[in-house]
Amino acid sequence: MPTKISVGGVSVDTRHWIGGERVASAETFADSSPIDGSVLGEISRGTPKEVAAAVAAAKAAFPAWAGTSRAERARTLHAIADGVEKRLEELATVETHDNGALLRSHRRGVMPRVAHNFRFFADWLLKLDHEDFETRGHTNHVSWDPAGPSVLITPWNAPLMLATWKVAPALAAGNTVILKPAEWSPLTASLLADIAAEAGLPAGVLNVVQGYGVEIGDALTSHPDVRRISFTGSVPTARRIAASAAANLTPLSLELGGKSPLLVFADADLDLAVDLAVEQYDNAGQVCLAATRVLVEETVAQEFTRRFVEKASRLQQGDPRDEATDIGPNIHPRQLEKIDGFVRRAVEAGARAVIGGHREEGQYYAPTLLTDVAQDSEIVQEEVFGPVLTLQTFADEEEAVRLANDTRFGLAATVATGDPERAERVTARLVAGTVWVNCFFVRDLQAPFGGSRHSGVGREGGTWSFDFYCDVKNTVTAPKGWADHG
Ligand code: NAD
Repeated sequence: MPTKISVGGVSVDTRHWIGGERVASAETFADSSPIDGSVLGEISRGTPKEVAAAVAAAKAAFPAWAGTSRAERARTLHAIADGVEKRLEELATVETHDNGALLRSHRRGVMPRVAHNFRFFADWLLKLDHEDFETRGHTNHVSWDPAGPSVLITPWNAPLMLATWKVAPALAAGNTVILKPAEWSPLTASLLADIAAEAGLPAGVLNVVQGYGVEIGDALTSHPDVRRISFTGSVPTARRIAASAAANLTPLSLELGGKSPLLVFADADLDLAVDLAVEQYDNAGQVCLAATRVLVEETVAQEFTRRFVEKASRLQQGDPRDEATDIGPNIHPRQLEKIDGFVRRAVEAGARAVIGGHREEGQYYAPTLLTDVAQDSEIVQEEVFGPVLTLQTFADEEEAVRLANDTRFGLAATVATGDPERAERVTARLVAGTVWVNCFFVRDLQAPFGGSRHSGVGREGGTWSFDFYCDVKNTVTAPKGWADHG
């Protein structure tokens, strides 16, 4: 079996990266491209044996990496960011072939942000501080001690972006890492291992183990030497991980799914509201934050729908490598089946497809808007993770908030209104980790990111990430020559 494959002209190693060496498994799995379904290559299929080796490597490398100065760690992270920028075109090309998201987004948005993830956490590390404070003359000093080997498990919808949201703060904190990328899009994690090694990251500090979550998940999440588990993915997987991590009470960070609302009030700039709604088809709807439930005030619903249909029908669906394409393919035939099942069941239950509602040739699903949906129906309550929106109307603010909060999720919400006071009132009542007012997808790494209810546990970003990846310690020192036992 070849250990290197060529993807869009870029060479990618298909083996794991463990302890600073490439390691092959006896078995492989096929990784295919959503663009045309072609097999990109056979990837080493991890087993508990490779997981054990990766955790052992991470454990062995931990004391030295944890002992490096903040400045040295920050320098290494900046060197990784340099490597990402140098190989930006290669990373963008491989990611697009592997997960089908737009090449132009990878080039101009995603991969520069991957580099930024490393730079941001390197810089934040250098200013991470809590002012000392006094208690009856004693000094309290707060420090962030590296926690230890950390398992990072990531999904396929934004593979390198989401992986580096975790890798960068974990490394900055002084932890060592075992990264498990999703089996449908493992390739850029392998390139990241090359880049990190070239940047001088010591062997064993970053390890990458590929494979199926169901086969190696338990080995990763129940290992007694693992000190942190950070997971982005679906709710059912999160439940299994939480159960497995319970054996060692390993702290968990969970970034999960959503069914976020977009609330459009009659006083909103309607064209802006339509733009915000159409934007939810980005990445073929495979975005955890997507506001898939469009809630529109009755009085403007007809006009909103007219303008929405006009705008959405101009979207170009096609090859994600083409600059003119707006919507690429969905990740996998199984995901398409899932999306189609949701829509068919919704239509059987009385929903009407205003646009779309069907598969297209290849691995594509037509952008879909469904109306006549009941609040307690599956299509309103469950995450589809495809280009499928529902439209419901509301009579007043009270009903808007009630509908918006009436799912088990709480990841994000978007409010379109021209009234700042209304924005404040509504925002205060929404259950969501992030609320956008008259905008969408603006994300600053300083800000907390995460979900409420079944959308997650904990927050990522800025100091929140260091709080998670570190054992936060408070040291209380008595004043010189004076002991207070009180
Ligand atoms: P998934 O839960 O099926 O898989 C995610 C990862 O978990 C993969 O690497 C998979 O191999 C692994 N895994 C599977 N079973 C496992 C187990 N038993 N133990 C350990 N690991 C296991 O999710 P997905 O389909 O890859 O991703 C889509 C989901 O991710 C959606 O629900 C989406 O909303 C969510 N998501 C959330 C965010 C966020 O930040 N909140 C961001 C992106 C995606």
